[in-house]
Amino acid sequence: MKSFSIPKEIETVAETLEKGGFEAYLVGGCVRDLLCGKKPKDWDFTTNAKPEQIIDLFPHTFYENTYGTVGVVIDETEDETLKNIEITPYRVESEYSDNRRPDVVRFADTLAEDLQRRDFTMNALAYSVSQKNIIDLYQGQRDIEDKIIRTVGEAGDRFSEDALRMMRAVRFKSQLGFEISHETEKAILEYGHLLAKISKERVRDEFSKIIMSSEPMNGLVTLKKLNILQYVVPELEETIGVEQNKAHSFDVWEHLLRTVQHSADKGWPLEIRLTALFHDISKPESRRWGKEQNQWTFYGHEVLGARRTKRILENLKYPNKIIEKVTMLVRWHMFFSDTEQISLSAVRRMVANVGRENIWDLMNVRICDRIGTGRPKEDPYRLRKYHAMIEEAMRDPISVGMLAIDGKRLMEVAGITPGPKIGFALHALLEEVLDDPIKNTKEYLEKRGVELVQLPESELKALGEKGKETKEGADDEEIKKIRSKHWVK
Ligand code: ATP
Ligand code: MG
Repeated sequence: MKSFSIPKEIETVAETLEKGGFEAYLVGGCVRDLLCGKKPKDWDFTTNAKPEQIIDLFPHTFYENTYGTVGVVIDETEDETLKNIEITPYRVESEYSDNRRPDVVRFADTLAEDLQRRDFTMNALAYSVSQKNIIDLYQGQRDIEDKIIRTVGEAGDRFSEDALRMMRAVRFKSQLGFEISHETEKAILEYGHLLAKISKERVRDEFSKIIMSSEPMNGLVTLKKLNILQYVVPELEETIGVEQNKAHSFDVWEHLLRTVQHSADKGWPLEIRLTALFHDISKPESRRWGKEQNQWTFYGHEVLGARRTKRILENLKYPNKIIEKVTMLVRWHMFFSDTEQISLSAVRRMVANVGRENIWDLMNVRICDRIGTGRPKEDPYRLRKYHAMIEEAMRDPISVGMLAIDGKRLMEVAGITPGPKIGFALHALLEEVLDDPIKNTKEYLEKRGVELVQLPESELKALGEKGKETKEGADDEEIKKIRSKHWVK
């Protein structure tokens, strides 16, 4: 007997299958998570009912053909994990002709057959909701307690059937903080080359899960140790042992690992983590000994690196949106480095290069990069200064462009031709609007504009000059506000 707190929707699904005369077990990741004391992120059932029989039992389902899985849709729930509960008939897998998933899916009659096809002992546990009973044919509970990842059956056989399981072992290690059993590791060392036959999309999905786990550094080190990094991102291997200068305590490989780990510690999204991992990927190819500097130089590594990153991500079949963003962040990652003093115009150019929506991501990459060198945290003053400058650079300056009327319209309504009067009048209008923003309407400004251009030129000029001064004062005021908000001068 083992009692977990199971949502009532899940109990109802189990009950419905059993009342219909079928067996019903929770299986896979959700049972593992329950035993680890974690809330499952989805709920999967396995049953001896066939897809049509499952569909007949539930009012609202959809059928995913590949594995005979039927999704049961629960409409009246807030809990995301309960919206779509998957029920898959027992099955065995047959005919692994090419070390990748089975060619055909065959249904099976017993739970035992279904558990036998599963990858790891911790994933081969079933739980009967009605009997509160765990079915554990492979000592999965013991392995979860010991935090061990071990294949169901002989590891070499299981990896020859589906080589992706080797990546999955590493993925679970970095997600769960478990160790891979010795025999399982040995089999990965022996059968790793079979990963070359696996589709890039499947490899990519496991790779992304490693990068998105809480321990990407651990996962990448394990891939390397088990000799399978070369089937995922061979380019990363070239960074191993590439020494840098005094400012860096680590070789390029370790620097990249620490940078991506910090991005995970911060909980950043995939694009930032990939940038963190690849930002110096071309340091090996751009490293030159600088005679004058008497140290290594890496000129242009960000340009080469952007191209290389693009090829890596394309090869792994990442979506274009991700490729574009990561490539762009790698290309400009040097911006906030080295420079003691960045000018406002340089920040403006950078905003134009990377786009307003990406500038904060670039800052975050830079912070991870810095931590990744093993140096102490960035001087907080300098970080705040960067923040203030970015805000300043992105701010719309105060100008006549903010008015609800422009020079062309003013000439139309006033019936006059181009001349200095237009500029004076617009600045005079700006003065009024800065004084009282409610006046910034087409109606008011057109009426008032016509009045202004009828004034003698000298009088209008004086009003215009005064408007310019007020504008500059207001602009300075806004910049001051930004700076004091960030506590910088
Ligand atoms: P997660 O929490 O990441 O979803 P999970 O254990 O549910 O982890 P899935 O990839 O969703 O992992 O797979 C669900 C279950 O299906 C696994 O627990 C395992 O029993 C089985 N499984 C998935 N992929 C394979 C595979 N390639 N070979 C054997 N069994 C697999
Ligand atoms: Mg799952």
